[in-house]
Amino acid sequence: MGLFRLLFWLALIIAVVWLCRRLLQAKPKKRQKKHLTKPQPMVRCVHCGVHIPQEKALPHGERWFCCQDHLQKSLNSER
Ligand SMILES: [Zn+2]
Repeated sequence: MGLFRLLFWLALIIAVVWLCRRLLQAKPKKRQKKHLTKPQPMVRCVHCGVHIPQEKALPHGERWFCCQDHLQKSLNSER
């Protein structure tokens, strides 16, 4: 009986250690999803006055445009 108990506890300890290792290995993967969404700066289209996020706006010099069409129209009107 003594040997059976010893083997039982040994198997239990190995199982617990294996489970702990699996849990520890799974944790770091969750950290990669930490992408802080920063508030996007808004810019105003010179042609139509629409406010759009700077990321989507088209820059031309110091001015911003909401689309390629408005950029061209604004450039054409200057000539
Ligand atoms: Zn526009």
